[in-house]
Amino acid sequence: LLNEFTLIEEFFTKKLPSPTDVLLGIGDDGAVLKVPADQALVIAVDTLVAGVHFPVDTAAADIGFKALAVNLSDLAAMGAYPRWITLALTLPAMDTAWLQAFAQGLFTLADQYQIQLVGGDTTRGPLTITIQAHGFVPAQQTLRRSGAKIGDKIYVSGTLGDAGLGLQIALHNINLPSTEEQFLLQRLNRPLPRVELGLLLRQFATSAIDISDGLLADLTHITEQSHVGATLTAEQLPLSSALSRSLSHHEALQLALTAGDDYELCFTIPAAREQEFLLASNQHPCTCIGFISEEPGITLVDFPHSLLATGYRHF
Ligand code: ADP
Ligand code: MG
Repeated sequence: LLNEFTLIEEFFTKKLPSPTDVLLGIGDDGAVLKVPADQALVIAVDTLVAGVHFPVDTAAADIGFKALAVNLSDLAAMGAYPRWITLALTLPAMDTAWLQAFAQGLFTLADQYQIQLVGGDTTRGPLTITIQAHGFVPAQQTLRRSGAKIGDKIYVSGTLGDAGLGLQIALHNINLPSTEEQFLLQRLNRPLPRVELGLLLRQFATSAIDISDGLLADLTHITEQSHVGATLTAEQLPLSSALSRSLSHHEALQLALTAGDDYELCFTIPAAREQEFLLASNQHPCTCIGFISEEPGITLVDFPHSLLATGYRHF
């Protein structure tokens, strides 16, 4: 039977070649880490609870991947480069196969950015995963929610609403052709944090946020903290073909505006720098969805009346 220590040893102790910034990693009472002199340390923490943040029958590897992805998405929205993580695991039982798959999913993403797991905590209880992510950004280049200016263009990365429909598939509320289901479940379970885009945005964006609670909710954080409003046009919202093919236009727009778990970035770019940004960002899928305006709240232009009637006008 595995105890806590052999469990950590077996699945989570993983040393990368000479991490000079990790003076002391897993194994002592705390980790000792070295922040480069010219960088600020950015930290973000997120908890995933089984049955609340993911369906209870989600594959262990997907849980491991997503628990890290949601934290890297927060760092990306700050313009930070990820470096270290800690992992607090609450497990109902010591299930070796589950832990092996969880660790495999987690390190699939961690290894992509040479992220070091430097410590954590392991307890018994209902399945809950907390990851704290640590990254670096030059202090003056930090991306914030508060810098949007009237006239800035509003952009989002990727496509919106896919994870929302993926959740309906995962919950067995809807059946779709298998290629659409695979794509949408991938978008739900394996969100790709926009780390490289976040780094590029240091040079261009006046504000940024990651979309975890739905575009309207998260863009509202930008407009409120920047003391501005936003104007969005329906036809500009980027929708995947899987989403468009599976739903009515009304339903697709509704998910794109309000469904959570997208983990795309929403950010603002000064109009005068838009062309330069588009040239620099051609490796990253980004779409202009509107502009920053003076009137507080979010104004929706050309959205179907059926959608506006459900109460989305007044944000
Ligand atoms: P303490 O009782 O001093 O808090 P623990 O027994 O909780 O120490 O942990 C022992 C070591 O193992 C620590 O270095 C801790 O960071 C690490 N650790 C515990 N759980 C995990 C985990 N789930 N992932 C990574 N490291 C862990
Ligand atoms: Mg402990």
